[in-house]
Amino acid sequence: MKIYNTLTKRVEEFMPIDKNEVKMYTCGPTVYNYAHVGNLRTYIFEDIFEKTLNYIGYNVKRVMNITDIGHLTSDADTGEDKMLKSAKSEGKSVLEIADFYTDAFFEDAKKLNVKKPDIIEKATDLIDEYIKIISTLLEKDFAYVANGNVYFDINKIDGYYELSGRNEEDLIVGARSDVLEDKNKRNPYDFVLWFTSSKFEDQALKWDSPWGVGYPGWHIECSGISMKHFGENLDIHCGGVDNIFPHHTNEIAQSEAYLGHKWCNYWVHAEHLNDQSGKMSKSKGEFLTLSLLERKGYKPLAYRFFCLGSHYRNQLVFSYESLDTASLSYEKLLNRIKSIKQDDSIIMEKEFSLYQKRFKESLEDDLNTANALTILFEVIKSNDLNNNTKLSLIEDFDKVLSLDLLNIKEMVLDDDLVIKVEEMIKERDEAKSRKDYAKADEIRDYLLSMGIVIKDSREGTTYEIKEG
Ligand code: AMP
Ligand code: ZN
Repeated sequence: MKIYNTLTKRVEEFMPIDKNEVKMYTCGPTVYNYAHVGNLRTYIFEDIFEKTLNYIGYNVKRVMNITDIGHLTSDADTGEDKMLKSAKSEGKSVLEIADFYTDAFFEDAKKLNVKKPDIIEKATDLIDEYIKIISTLLEKDFAYVANGNVYFDINKIDGYYELSGRNEEDLIVGARSDVLEDKNKRNPYDFVLWFTSSKFEDQALKWDSPWGVGYPGWHIECSGISMKHFGENLDIHCGGVDNIFPHHTNEIAQSEAYLGHKWCNYWVHAEHLNDQSGKMSKSKGEFLTLSLLERKGYKPLAYRFFCLGSHYRNQLVFSYESLDTASLSYEKLLNRIKSIKQDDSIIMEKEFSLYQKRFKESLEDDLNTANALTILFEVIKSNDLNNNTKLSLIEDFDKVLSLDLLNIKEMVLDDDLVIKVEEMIKERDEAKSRKDYAKADEIRDYLLSMGIVIKDSREGTTYEIKEG
């Protein structure tokens, strides 16, 4: 297949290191709040990428991190720690916050038919790995200690700006004063590998290290987690375009300095989903979550369909009008499929292969999902294909599209769901007792979006599956 590689700025033929197993790493969520639908666009794109690789015959091993520490509110090593800020405002520990929003993230992913990665690793679970890498970087003189923190020295390597295609002058002109002000750094773009001294003395999670008690910088987790599970090489590394600089740039710098050779071959990035006023954010205006869309009556898979309608490398602007249009055509699509009844027709092998080939070629062409959908519509409308051939093709295409084209899911209250619902009700009771009614309502609405209705009475809170 062909895929655009941010590293070479070209669409390239994809060639895995070992064709028996593609090694794919995708940066995971920072779990201090719900994911916004922009974040989810990136995970939908990664899901399509992984499923396309499966569809064309590769076995994929996918690893994802959960950022539960050390991601600061600014892009540089400054600003408040997002996890800590959220924990303080919700009156919880950082780990409770992380667990709550990790579960919420996977609920969202499940509703969007985004497959869980094979390995999910929390940043806080691999501290020893990071210490090992940082120690070697210091030994090899790629890092230095200043005022208690360990910094990576970007002047010790070549090609620091290769991935982003930027240059130092551009970055310095664009930099804010707080980045330039860290007097401990030899270069403004040196980045922290390990903090022992920071503005935030009350950092909740700290570990012992050769440089004193502290915590890792944000970027090291993805290098450490990837190397733990994949060793010294990696085929694909994905994320949203905002990850290109500084996160992925710094991951490459530290990993290649540590390993002494090239680390990852394909860097693949999804463009952003913006709202009409510009960048989507978790703090600005109406915070667009999947459950908000559900409360407004949209199906999660209508949002997936909306995303698949445009190319992952194009910016997409979110508006309710465009989501309405996508929703409507998704419903029409489902209705048309419902009207194709299984009969005793024999599958037309030649035609089946021909459509399958075209579908595959669209995806192999740098994941052209919009064209893949066009082929699906052609199959449905075709006057030449019999019903069973159509249904088999739809089933086959849905392995990648994952739009539940043939099966409408019924909800069941299984053990996992019961545990989750009860935890959330407890969370809500706690929020109510500290008079945080906004949070309590948020949890009630979130449960509703999962199809669970809760009822408060003097005896306590009960719940049931929403009808319809
Ligand atoms: P975060 O939880 O902030 O670490 O982001 C999770 C993922 O969402 C990362 O891969 C980001 O690059 C990606 N991302 C952040 N903002 C957007 C956006 N507006 N549109 C698409 N992807 C985004
Ligand atoms: Zn990452």
